Amino acid sequence: RSGFVALIGRPNVGKSTLMNHIVGQKVAIISDKPQTTRNKIRAVYTDERGQIIFLDTPGIHKPHSKLGEWLVKTAKDALDEVDLILFLVDAEQGFGPGDRFIIENLKGVKTPVFLVVNKIDQVHPDDLLPLIDHYRKLYSFKEVVPISALQGNNTSTLIQLIIKEL
Ligand code: GDP
Ligand code: MG
Repeated sequence: RSGFVALIGRPNVGKSTLMNHIVGQKVAIISDKPQTTRNKIRAVYTDERGQIIFLDTPGIHKPHSKLGEWLVKTAKDALDEVDLILFLVDAEQGFGPGDRFIIENLKGVKTPVFLVVNKIDQVHPDDLLPLIDHYRKLYSFKEVVPISALQGNNTSTLIQLIIKEL
C-alpha cells in the first residue's frame, strides 16, 4: 500500500513534531522551503506494510486579501488530490477560530479526513472526550486519533490506520 497524505492544522499544533517522530532519523525531511507547487513532498515513511508520502499543503488559513483567497482555493483543490488528510488539532489549546476556518473549508473536499488530537500528554483524560465530541459535531471524520507527537503516544496506531486507508 502507498499513498499521499496531507497534514493540515493551524500553526503550533505539532505538524512538524509529528512528521519528525514518524519519519525519525531514517529519512531526511526533503524540504522546509516555501512551496513552489501546490503539494510539496515533505517526508516519506516506509515499512514492510507500505509507504506514506507526507505532503505540505499550505494556505488553509483565513485570507485577508484576494491573493489569500486564491491561496485557499488552491489549497482546497490540492486537498482533493491526496488520498488522506490528517487534520491536527491541539488538545491543550482546545477548539479555536483557526480550527473552525479549516473545518469550514474541508466541507466539499472529497478526501477522507482523520482528526488527530495532539498533545494529549498536556490534558486530563476527562477533558479529552468533550473536546473530541465538539469536533465530531462539526465534521464527519473517518477516524479520530488522540496522540502525543512529542512522546510518541499512540503514533503507531495512527500509522496503522493511515496504511489501512491507503
Ligand atoms: P507546527 O507549527 O504545527 O509544525 O508545530 P510544531 O511541530 O513546530 O510544534 C509546536 C510546539 O508544540 C513545539 O514546541 C513542540 O515541541 C510542541 N509539541 C508538539 N507536539 C507536542 C505534544 O504532543 N505534546 C507537547 N507537550 N508538546 C508538543
Ligand atoms: Mg511546522
